[in-house]
Amino acid sequence: MEVSLSSLPAAEIAADLLVLPVREGHDPGLGLGGVIGQVRFTGKAGEELLLPRRDGDAFTADAVLLVGVGAGGDEHAVRRAVGRIAPRLADFPTVAIAFPHVQAVLEGVRLGGYRFDGYKSAPQRRAVQEVIVLAGEDDGEERRGIARARIVADAVTFARDLVNTPAGDLVPMDLAERARAMAETHGLDVRVLDVEALREGGFGGILGVGAASVNPPCLIEVSYPGDGLSGTVGLAGKGITFDSGGLAIKSLKAMSTMKCDMAGGATMLAVVQAAAGLGLPVGVTAVVPAAENMVSGAATRPGDVLTHRDGRTTEVTDTDSEGRLVLADALAYLAESSPDVLIDAATLTYSVMHALGEDITGVLGSDRRLVGELIEAGARAGEPMWELPMWEPYAERLKSEVADGKNEGGSFADATIAALFLRPFTAGLPWAHLDFAATAYRDKATDLGPAGATGVMVRTLIEYLESRS
Ligand code: MN
Ligand code: MN
Repeated sequence: MEVSLSSLPAAEIAADLLVLPVREGHDPGLGLGGVIGQVRFTGKAGEELLLPRRDGDAFTADAVLLVGVGAGGDEHAVRRAVGRIAPRLADFPTVAIAFPHVQAVLEGVRLGGYRFDGYKSAPQRRAVQEVIVLAGEDDGEERRGIARARIVADAVTFARDLVNTPAGDLVPMDLAERARAMAETHGLDVRVLDVEALREGGFGGILGVGAASVNPPCLIEVSYPGDGLSGTVGLAGKGITFDSGGLAIKSLKAMSTMKCDMAGGATMLAVVQAAAGLGLPVGVTAVVPAAENMVSGAATRPGDVLTHRDGRTTEVTDTDSEGRLVLADALAYLAESSPDVLIDAATLTYSVMHALGEDITGVLGSDRRLVGELIEAGARAGEPMWELPMWEPYAERLKSEVADGKNEGGSFADATIAALFLRPFTAGLPWAHLDFAATAYRDKATDLGPAGATGVMVRTLIEYLESRS
């Protein structure tokens, strides 16, 4: 998709389609005030009206798409409004868009127009080839917006593609290969620890969770050095490429979307890619503990004890609470290099789904400032987050008779329990934990994309890294 800027007035732009925002109760201009009065188009968010050019019309484009943006019109409203209409743009080779906020416009086009259709036998739909943003005079801000939107949308697309890929085509070593290819493209350091290296390194959580699969687990590490002066951020992302629940096997319904259980890992890989693309000063290391949680005679049993990277032991009392077992190893490993902060992301608990639903990502952590900064970054990205409590008394529920701890503490408040389980592995570093079990993968389309992987938290974490710069 080619993108250019134009300072021409909307009426004069030559394009197959001109997209024009209409604020609620406002005249769209171009002599269309009378037309919209007849069809009761008011400019409410969600309203759309496609008008082919007729003789005597006061514009040059072949057609105009009026898009209601409601009373507001901030960048979030613009991103969503453009995202909603983005699938329709594929019918027009050249589209001129007269919205403000260049970056949000282009993010809306890319995210809203995203398709994962490589598995369909029919040829792909046509795609918009050229987007002209009517931005008035370009003072450099607009051009930066174009470049930034491309990097951000590429990162979200990368994460979505990984999550949407069927689990049979994305086993742990496939994920490692995709990470390696991304790292090579962006000139980043990449390391993959295979089973042998995991054994030598004492990654008992990852090995225990991956024990039943014919597809061996691994740990993927991708690093972006930054300028070496601006500190470092350690990112850990849950990389369960498929979660059957293990011997505590899930129902078919619960299992059917479990290719999404590596969304945390996909998110963190996408964020490193974006950090490199944007040339951020802060250093970023992403670690993805990747394993397939399956069922076989080699499976970890309820009651088995695993020894983690830092030597702590866990009694596995629920084989379906596997994400925290692999993250424990990853956090302990990341903590060894003492980054300034640790952040993990995981499709971790049903508890966060029940508490916050599919719009809001849960955040917990040991550092008030970091949690606050992430929530603010989420607000800037238009990705809502809500803090859940690290309620100390519940840590009691993770006590084991035979090991340092166990991996479940009853069905109540499991988002809190999971975070309390992870905390000891963070070595006292400032740490925040994103539980996005409900927001990372949705069964219905949103304004910013079709059903399936959302890529949520990629933009939030990019915002956060930028705020450290
Ligand atoms: Mn599970
Ligand atoms: Mn899981």
